[in-house]
Amino acid sequence: MTTLPLLSVTDCQPQPQPAANDWSPKRATFLPFSTPSIGEEEIAEVVDSLRSGWITTGPKTRRFETAFAEYTGAKHAIAVSSCTAALHLSLAAHDIGPCDEVIVPTLTFCSTANVVEHLGAKPILVDVDDNGLVTAAILERAITPKTRAILPVHYAGQSVDLDPILDLAARYKIPVIEDAAHASGAFYKGRKIGTHGRAVCFSFYATKNMTTGEGGMITTNDDDLAARLRLLTLHGMSRDAWKRYTAAGSWFYEVVEPGYKDNMTDIQASLGLHQLAKLDGFIDRRRAMAERYAFALGDIPGLVLPTEVPHNRHTWHIYPVQLTNFDRSLFIDALRERNIGASVHFIPLHRHPFYRDRYGLLTTQFPIAEKLYEGMVSLPMYPNMSREDETDVLNSVREILA
Ligand SMILES: *Cc1c(COP(=O)(O)O)cnc(C)c1O
Repeated sequence: MTTLPLLSVTDCQPQPQPAANDWSPKRATFLPFSTPSIGEEEIAEVVDSLRSGWITTGPKTRRFETAFAEYTGAKHAIAVSSCTAALHLSLAAHDIGPCDEVIVPTLTFCSTANVVEHLGAKPILVDVDDNGLVTAAILERAITPKTRAILPVHYAGQSVDLDPILDLAARYKIPVIEDAAHASGAFYKGRKIGTHGRAVCFSFYATKNMTTGEGGMITTNDDDLAARLRLLTLHGMSRDAWKRYTAAGSWFYEVVEPGYKDNMTDIQASLGLHQLAKLDGFIDRRRAMAERYAFALGDIPGLVLPTEVPHNRHTWHIYPVQLTNFDRSLFIDALRERNIGASVHFIPLHRHPFYRDRYGLLTTQFPIAEKLYEGMVSLPMYPNMSREDETDVLNSVREILA
């Protein structure tokens, strides 16, 4: 009698072994479009907050604000719950409301315009240039006597040409509120983004160049604006409201206007302190990847790669390519078949039913955004992708377009 060998589970499910020259285009695991780079430092800091008993706005949020102000060179930094909150508060602090107009580029995430609606004001959507950036010339055509703010977006992580926009704004006495969701660590003409406009709004959402899970920051050099923003961030309560539960705190406060509840927590700031320290390294890594992508994909006909405009440091938050003779949906499906995620930044706002129908917008009003959107795909590109992950992306793009 022969004894049967014990079978292991893997013996029961033999994996086909490809022959050496039978290369499969499909990765073994799915490569997400983006994942955060969270290290042990961040984890230990969060645990420290949880153990400390102080889990909402507190000393770490203040330290993070100070560190971010130092990093950007701004006089004030106010930590908030998201970039959406930062944009909303910045407009609210300028008393923008019904009958007011705010100029917003159409190629952005919906929150840039949604916050204008939240205040009862009207977002005036405008086109962008070939780099996806709004320009002073485009903005000037949209200015009316009702314009109360200009909201440029530093698309993909490179600064709009700010000087002409600031000149324009000064001439019309309109504040510039920057959507810097992609631009933590970006430079414009040798100075970090964060000190040019009247208020600059950053995002620390999970996919952004640095993350606190959810979170945001407003920087400004204006003392009065900073004070008003602080008030609006936490219920409109006078005097360091967050301190009222500390030993140094007082039970007494006064509500001087109906503020919002947009404060950052120390749990978020725990992440932010360490992410900020790593931000320049993350940007260097993204830049190196952008260079490799450009080198590997630069010669493919019908593929237009993103370029860096001269006056800034690009943070390479996203890497949007353009397909000029290949269907974008088929391309994204083909990447997915190869286990690679991709995304589109952005579906222009004038195409969303709410904005299209409310303001009767036509695609012909936004020819450049339309041209960009048509073949736009963002490839995965983030610091904790391995070299093999990068190679898989580059090989897949080549193959699909071959
Ligand atoms: C992510 C993003 C926002 C919103 O940021 P949140 O922190 O998620 O509120 C705003 N504008 C742009 C351009 C963005 O990409």
